[in-house]
Amino acid sequence: MTGGKEVLVCYDERVLAHEPDTNAAFLPGRLDKRVRQILSGLNVQWRYPEHPGRVSSILDLLVREPIEGVRIMGGRAASYQELSRVHTSAYLQDIYALRGKSAWLDMDTTAVSPGSVEAAEVAAGTAIAAVEAVFDGQADRAFAVVRPPGHHAEPVRARGFCLFNNVAIAAAHAQSALGCERVLILDWDAHHGNGTQDIFYADPDVLFFDIHRAAPFYPGSGSLEEVGAGLGEGTTVNVPVPAGTGDRVYLKILRELLAPAVANFKPDLILVSAGFDAHGYDLALNVSYEGFAAMTGILQALADEHCQGRLVMVLEGGYNLESLSHGVHSVLKVMAGGEVPEPAVCGLAEAEAAIAFHGPAFRATEGG
Ligand SMILES: [Zn+2]
Repeated sequence: MTGGKEVLVCYDERVLAHEPDTNAAFLPGRLDKRVRQILSGLNVQWRYPEHPGRVSSILDLLVREPIEGVRIMGGRAASYQELSRVHTSAYLQDIYALRGKSAWLDMDTTAVSPGSVEAAEVAAGTAIAAVEAVFDGQADRAFAVVRPPGHHAEPVRARGFCLFNNVAIAAAHAQSALGCERVLILDWDAHHGNGTQDIFYADPDVLFFDIHRAAPFYPGSGSLEEVGAGLGEGTTVNVPVPAGTGDRVYLKILRELLAPAVANFKPDLILVSAGFDAHGYDLALNVSYEGFAAMTGILQALADEHCQGRLVMVLEGGYNLESLSHGVHSVLKVMAGGEVPEPAVCGLAEAEAAIAFHGPAFRATEGG
């Protein structure tokens, strides 16, 4: 590929050790009882949807269909000091106390298995490593393939399969340790990044921009009126959209709202909470592979214009393994310098071909 760029995929297999199994023995308590009650009310056998196969599917596809310019780099665990930039010490002590145990953390079915605490430390640390690699000049762009995801985790609470807020921890590290003044976080996951919003709600130096399926969809926050508070008023931008929203709307929002916001804010780094549950296969919204790729193209252009190309993606949700792995793949192709597609309306080309194929038969009899 000519003009290709090197892209780092940051991955550490310790993230596979987070593996809540609802049949395992959990710490006894009221939450355990309540969650079991909820699960028994479901008509189907419930499996933990945020499982190790998610990241394996991404890595497996990269091996089967390698992308020139993509290099895989290891990760590391985040330290207490790095995590404490966005989480309280009381919360961190509570989580650390769960090492080696199984427990429910939230009624929304967030749980931990014996390896989860280390996996969460490694997820946060690998997001940091991706940012450091970009600031060190090892690559312009990086993608941290991590789990558990992070954007629902609040300063004092685990929620929505998230323990530590990986993208927020990476942003705080860029500011505290790498001399970065302003950070843009774009969250394109289908769900609102309530945790990231909370952490930076009063911070004028982090622009948090979130497109998500509107309430009452989980977690229910992220209305238009939530714009930040105090010094941070105006640096939280929420764009709630209805079920089924797809490529054309996402691209319009990026071009007509994100681009001027970024030009005004002038970030030193662009981070993306890259969730692939906005893809049609996850049944909440309707972004296509070309849509994710086109959004990546817009973000790269913004990064090139405003922050020396520094763009780091951090994996969030995405539960259909086919759309998750192919979605990440389509983003990495663009990050590696591949062509940026313009998403077509699904089926339009096929309809035009059918019209061209059958049409003459009917026109021949017209007026006959
Ligand atoms: Zn999500």
